Amino acid sequence: MSDDVRNVIIIGSGPAGYTAALYTARASLKPLVFEGAVTAGGALMNTTEVENFPGFRDGIMGPELMDNMRAQAEKFGAELIPDDIVAVDLTGDVKTVTDSEGNVHRARTVIVTTGSQHRKLGLPREDALSGRGVSWCATCDGFFFKGQDIAVVGGGDTALEEATFLSRFANSVTVIHRRDTLRASKAMQERAFADEKITFAWDSAVQEIHGDPKLSGVTLRDTTTGETRELAVTGLFIAIGHDPRTELFKGQLDLDAEGYLKVESPSTRTNIPGVFAAGDVVDHTYRQAITAAGTGCAAALDAERYLASLA
Ligand code: FAD
Repeated sequence: MSDDVRNVIIIGSGPAGYTAALYTARASLKPLVFEGAVTAGGALMNTTEVENFPGFRDGIMGPELMDNMRAQAEKFGAELIPDDIVAVDLTGDVKTVTDSEGNVHRARTVIVTTGSQHRKLGLPREDALSGRGVSWCATCDGFFFKGQDIAVVGGGDTALEEATFLSRFANSVTVIHRRDTLRASKAMQERAFADEKITFAWDSAVQEIHGDPKLSGVTLRDTTTGETRELAVTGLFIAIGHDPRTELFKGQLDLDAEGYLKVESPSTRTNIPGVFAAGDVVDHTYRQAITAAGTGCAAALDAERYLASLA
């Protein structure tokens, strides 16, 4: 156990974590940031061009954006550790977090920014073609698919919302769904059915993803007959859900029905005093780098005010 009681420990290193680190570092709080062992930098490390983060008029590559955020936080004194937190005890005035080597770190405040993991189809080429035709975010990438034939996988509200949004840009949008009925709300279904650019591949599952170096198409399997067919698409948006990374906090922090951390919105306060949460681990609505960074800033300011109230 380290004897030090830090002011702030931040768990997670995406836009939310690094922004919280930058703000708390500039407030001379010397934050200790656990960036994660494998995925330091967060979700944008897996993408190519980011065109919608303000301040970069020609766009910026995802990993470069995250390197910049990291360096900016470090420049002001954030201490960054590329390791996972494997256990937490957030209940007392002094919170403890345990790293993967069993070291216990203590702090008066903890900011949770562990993000969420988009569900994958689990197919070969899916990761290799991420950012090269395969996407999990229509808001982020729709613009790149102007005039193209694309597909959306899923049958819930998100899938239909993405399909309707993408039809603004694409030549055609095929919604690929495993069943012959949708889970999406009636209103969302009606909008999609009325959109002449959207067609449905019912009872269909993606069996293979093709293309090198960019996506060129998918093989669909009929889930009732087992027959296969080819669908030529240059965009594949996978909208089958997200899993917030909240396993560590179960039993301590309040979660909503979908497993996201609950905060006293518009603040970032959780149900435990001194513990704040920001970014996609809280947000199942917007899921953007800029909104994650924005709430990361809010969490830093909330933590700063909480620490001031202890003095
Ligand atoms: P994340 O970026 O997910 O970061 C979470 C971090 O927490 C990770 O570094 C992880 O390692 C760490 N972590 C998790 N558990 C632990 C633990 N136990 N211990 C230590 N660390 C832990 N948004 C845009 O605005 N524009 C885009 O163009 C865009 N493109 C995208 C492309 C792709 C392929 C994807 C997947 C997302 C894209 N997004 C885009 C969405 C954007 O990336 C997310 O909204 C944003 O990264 C969320 O930030 P975050 O800080 O909340 O979480």
